[in-house]
Amino acid sequence: MEFSVTLPGWAQDEIQKLPHLETIEDRMRAVIRFSQLNIEHDTGGPFAAGVFEEESGKLISMGVNRVVPMSCSSAHAEVVALSLAQKSLKSFDLGSVDMPEHQLVVNWRPCAMCYGATVWSGIRALVIAGSDGQLEEITGFDEGPIHPKWKEELIARGISIQDDVLKDEACEVFRLFRDSGKLVYNGRQG
Ligand SMILES: [Zn+2]
Repeated sequence: MEFSVTLPGWAQDEIQKLPHLETIEDRMRAVIRFSQLNIEHDTGGPFAAGVFEEESGKLISMGVNRVVPMSCSSAHAEVVALSLAQKSLKSFDLGSVDMPEHQLVVNWRPCAMCYGATVWSGIRALVIAGSDGQLEEITGFDEGPIHPKWKEELIARGISIQDDVLKDEACEVFRLFRDSGKLVYNGRQG
């Protein structure tokens, strides 16, 4: 018995084309592009996430939302990216002392589930496009109950946080998703 979540075929091809991603903006731009391609190919929701070596910018894994096609409510982009990175590095802890520091780049603030997944992954840095109410206003996705001091709690656990990176570009993709009329897959349609 097992379950698995796979990336769509187009994502595997796109990852091969990615150059070395030097700056935070380069990394976020690639993540936002993946979120848009995921809508255009109809392979999941408007979310993508990448795990990078923080210092070098080397891409370890890219994840996209696969909830609807995989019939799996936990197949959020962050969980997919973190899990693929852990598989690839053969370690449940992306913060092991014997490896370079890893950074998770996401096109919005993690939801309640992905916040926990981020903390347990061992990641050292989180970079997000935004964290205010815009995503929920534009799309209707429920991000769940988040601790009011979620940023401080990350920092207390040694995870740095950088917010508002290419926010307008990220929101543009959320508007595309809204206008596409695709399913907003909240549990119990909440
Ligand atoms: Zn999530």
